Amino acid sequence: MAGPRLVCPLCGTAVVDGAEPAPGACAGCGALYAGGGESPPAAVAAALAHWAVEGLAPDALALRLFEVDPPPAPAPAAAITSDQRDAFYLWWVFVRPGDGDVAAALEGLLDR
Ligand SMILES: [Zn+2]
Repeated sequence: MAGPRLVCPLCGTAVVDGAEPAPGACAGCGALYAGGGESPPAAVAAALAHWAVEGLAPDALALRLFEVDPPPAPAPAAAITSDQRDAFYLWWVFVRPGDGDVAAALEGLLDR
């Protein structure tokens, strides 16, 4: 099998194909992504640290990412997904900030 593959859960674009994913932005929809954790909460914690977002609980946020269907663009949206690779996978958080920033998009998820 080829190297890791990571597909944006918001638009279906393959953001990484055959290389080790690193935090970046989706070429298809502009969503920012970060994470790379072995569990959803670990991925959320890593993404929050990468984006310097403070004051949000990774466990609660990870749970909400599985409960909430992302609204259509251009509304702010967030989603979690796993990459595809041999034998194991890592989790990644995607955020489309809309008119606000990443923190606002994630806070909005907890408010809903
Ligand atoms: Zn995308």
